[in-house]
Amino acid sequence: MSFQSSLLSWFSKNARPLPWRTHYRPYEVWVSEIMLQQTQMDTVLPYFERWFKLFPTIESLAGSDEKKVLKAWEGLGYYSRARNLHHTAKWLVEKHGGQFPSDHETILSLKGVGRYTAGAISSIAFNQEKPIVDGNVLRVLSRVYAIQKPIDIEKNKETFWQLQESLIPKGQARYFNQALMELGALVCSTQNPSCAICPLRTFCKAYKQDRAEDFPVRAKRKKTVKVEATAIVLVSNGKYLLQRRPLGKIMGGLWEFPEWKVAANKALKFLKKDFRIEGKLEYLKDIKRNYTHHLETLRVFHFDLQNASLPENPKNGWEQVWVRKSDFKKYPFSSAHAKIASLLTN
Ligand code: SF4
Repeated sequence: MSFQSSLLSWFSKNARPLPWRTHYRPYEVWVSEIMLQQTQMDTVLPYFERWFKLFPTIESLAGSDEKKVLKAWEGLGYYSRARNLHHTAKWLVEKHGGQFPSDHETILSLKGVGRYTAGAISSIAFNQEKPIVDGNVLRVLSRVYAIQKPIDIEKNKETFWQLQESLIPKGQARYFNQALMELGALVCSTQNPSCAICPLRTFCKAYKQDRAEDFPVRAKRKKTVKVEATAIVLVSNGKYLLQRRPLGKIMGGLWEFPEWKVAANKALKFLKKDFRIEGKLEYLKDIKRNYTHHLETLRVFHFDLQNASLPENPKNGWEQVWVRKSDFKKYPFSSAHAKIASLLTN
């Protein structure tokens, strides 16, 4: 058997029964690919099910208000993805009669859709012979072909794009592309790949050299930097202060408890400067956040204002509300602040 037929035969027996694999509807494939951009499969599945209960069609997504869309996304992170889906749904209703386009160039031009996502949608939803290269594909191909070029140097990625495209068997793009990614996810894992059960082991150079874990090759990794931030839960008369992040900033439009990108001792100064209040903070919890080369500890404190009033609009342009705990569920939070809200309500 060829590389391709071995992989396709393995996929036909081992593919996970994912909801978008039942009918390969373009809207479902599109949403799944956007959700999977920065998020693990296990996390995505319940969000995907809930999304299609709330927005079963492109029209229903286009007709929803943004708050509902962001609330459905709460906890998935990278909220611009939800905004882009919403924006694109409106555009599709206006310009394409609510139909998802099949033309690859049009797909590539949609907001939030890059080369990988366009290739995934074109091949999975429309069975077009378009390449896809994600982390799983990089790992599998780098091992099968024992590719020595470091994958974290941008110009080297082109080698993988060209190789992957050249491997797609005619008329089989939908299954072949998924099979390659599925093999990376289920068998050819980063550590301890299951070579003994791998359908590609007779083709795999890294396996033959007993060097699977030496691939993919990377240039030196950047060090992770540890940083600290502080959130202060302000409560007065049983109500909590929430602030809405301005649009155009990271996580714009989401709600949060007042937060500063400084250690707790410095946050006290900001509390005085921004809200003109002073006093002792009560420690609640530490929450860890990861973002590009940063490991952040968000230290969360509680401060009871005991009915003192606050100056209006302490942060210029930030919308504020005082809400009861029971109303937290109406506000879309970033994942760290959703954890704070859940800590206060449970
Ligand atoms: S034989 Fe091992 S290293 Fe090679 S593709 Fe299969 S799982 Fe990966």
